This record gives sequence, C-alpha cells and structure tokens, in this order.
Amino acid sequence: MAEKRKYKKRYCKYCEAKVDFMDYKDAGALRFSLSERYKIMPRRLTGNCKRHQDMISIVIKRARAAALVPYTVTRKQVVVAPFENLK
Ligand SMILES: [Zn+2]
Repeated sequence: MAEKRKYKKRYCKYCEAKVDFMDYKDAGALRFSLSERYKIMPRRLTGNCKRHQDMISIVIKRARAAALVPYTVTRKQVVVAPFENLK
C-alpha cells in the first residue's frame, strides 16, 4: 500500500455505459463529472477517457448556458450532493 488515492478505481463510467451521445438536458448523466461546486471534474480524478471528457465539457458548458447548471456557487449554496434540488 504505497499510495492511497481518493478516487481509487479509474475507469471511464461513460465507456462502461456505452454512451455515444450526451444530452445537455439530461442532468443525471453530468452528475459523475461535476464537483459539489458544479465544477467540471478533471480527468485525472474521474478516470474518464479523452473522448468522453471532451463530450462532457461541451455538454456541461451548454447546460450552463441553458441555466441548468450554475456557473458559480457561493459558499451558502454548496451542496454535498448536487442535483438533489436540481431535477
Ligand atoms: Zn469513455
């Protein structure tokens, strides 16, 4: 046990689910890749592949423009589980 990672298993969840297309309206699919402050998780933590990470970043930015995902979160708005109050 040389090192202990915060996110242990590294595999692309989207490859596992065989996702070929992401919809910006489908907030549930974005959940894996957003932090509690609604930031896009870096690939080194999520283990997503390049292809899906690119798709995610495009889709999340689209969702932000459509006001489905906030751009910024103030300290009071931080939630432990995003998308609980966001349908
Ligand atoms: Zn993938």
